[in-house]
Amino acid sequence: MNASVAAPLVPITVAKGDGIGPEITESVLEILHAAKAPIHYDFIEVGQKLYEQGYTAGIAPETWDVIRRNAAFLKAPITTQLGKGGKSLNVTVRTMLNLFANVRPSISYAPYVATQHPGINLVIIRENEEDLYAGIEHQQTREVTQVLKIISRPGTERIVRYAFEYARAYGRRKVTCMTKNNIMKVTDGLFSRIFEEVAVHYPDIKAEHMIIDIGTAKLAAQPEQFDVIVTLNLYGDILSDVAAQIAGSVGLAGSANIGRGVAMFEAVHGSAPDIAGKGVANPSGLLVAATQMLVHVGLAPSAELITNAWLTTLEDGIHTADIYRSGLSAHLVGTGGFTSAVIERLGERPQVLKAVQYKTNRIQVQTSPTPPSIKRLVGVDVFLDWDRAGRDPDELGAALERDLPPAWRLSMITNRSVKVYPNGLPETFCSDHWRSRILPVGAEEMDYAAVLDLLRDLHTAGFEIIKTENLYTFDGERGYSLGQGE
Ligand code: NAD
Repeated sequence: MNASVAAPLVPITVAKGDGIGPEITESVLEILHAAKAPIHYDFIEVGQKLYEQGYTAGIAPETWDVIRRNAAFLKAPITTQLGKGGKSLNVTVRTMLNLFANVRPSISYAPYVATQHPGINLVIIRENEEDLYAGIEHQQTREVTQVLKIISRPGTERIVRYAFEYARAYGRRKVTCMTKNNIMKVTDGLFSRIFEEVAVHYPDIKAEHMIIDIGTAKLAAQPEQFDVIVTLNLYGDILSDVAAQIAGSVGLAGSANIGRGVAMFEAVHGSAPDIAGKGVANPSGLLVAATQMLVHVGLAPSAELITNAWLTTLEDGIHTADIYRSGLSAHLVGTGGFTSAVIERLGERPQVLKAVQYKTNRIQVQTSPTPPSIKRLVGVDVFLDWDRAGRDPDELGAALERDLPPAWRLSMITNRSVKVYPNGLPETFCSDHWRSRILPVGAEEMDYAAVLDLLRDLHTAGFEIIKTENLYTFDGERGYSLGQGE
């Protein structure tokens, strides 16, 4: 009886991307093929061409079926229109597929890749679905635009637990949380509070919190002191580019987007249109992402073979232009030359850099149900577009005081969050965007129907309401921020 039945090939979706995407994808697929990684590919088209065909997220609806049915998605960088146009494909894929964790390792390869920080070996675990990247933006007045920062309890708990589970699974000792909870007490405050709650369940792992600004400065100056960093979406995006660059080059960093089902793997860098088609791009970022993918789908031996050949190539001084330094490097190569050098070294192990050994860890994250709480409506912030009377806050305050129904009182008016009424300062700049905080008279709680009546009265009195935010307490705790100077 023949016992050697070939294992089925692992189905992977591949998008060659834009700019340097096709060149670096070709390189990576050549290396995977030479390493005999047991993979079957389904190629899809996403990105620029699809944007041009009118698909605002850069993907056709039928393409989702291909991505969803395969084990993983290897995605080369996509060109997104900056500051205009459709939605980012990357953000769309991450959110539609619930890829809540963005795992971005940064490692220095000194002395072969120039860096002032030879000891970097850290992982940034970035929340991938929420925060400002929810992309809910509006222009509300001629002068003012806004974006909503969404931070949820389950989303935060999931990423924080993932960071601690990741630390345990990979033998790491410390998790550092970075937020701006001194300024954004409701949103970033929730993130840091949940971090503290979750950390208690991992006594074997050191937990610390840093304010994001000093945390970023420390990362840039002493990156060796960090192990695992968990943070919100935007901070994580910026931090991981800083970490990758000081480790040697953003061109060397890969990233995994992990959820419960299919996972997506990509380079940290973008589509580099400035060097596209020149054959000089470094394929390492996408190659590192591909090895993360191999480990994720249970092909750790193929990942080891490739990474050790890649480290040997770096060690032999065979470098693309982005990491080439005379005195450090031996040969300047293009994308094709680098690819061949890695393939020639399959089966070799680095002598000075640490050879890798991988194991596939499935990280399971359980989140707890959100506890019940008593929610009370205690007031309303009414945002107004008002550009009269030389934008004098006292004029607006007097008009509101005059037109408010007797059941309501004006608590304050802010402009770009600074209190300007009552008793504002004449120096404060006022735009055409005003927030009036309106509270019920003689009542601690009210019904939303009363807010609707209030809005109708204000509208009838000639005020242009651009939005409202209800003010709630939860178990008696204020669920909204105070105005600056309130
Ligand atoms: P970029 O990362 O594409 O390029 C920044 C600089 O790094 C450029 O000088 C480029 O030549 C260089 N570089 C990047 N990758 C390299 C590589 N592999 N080898 C050698 N040099 C490399 O960033 P950008 O210029 O800000 O963005 C270009 C486009 O990429 C934009 O449309 C942006 O939206 C998009 N982008 C996509 C992703 C993604 O798909 N995940 C990520 C970031 C940016």
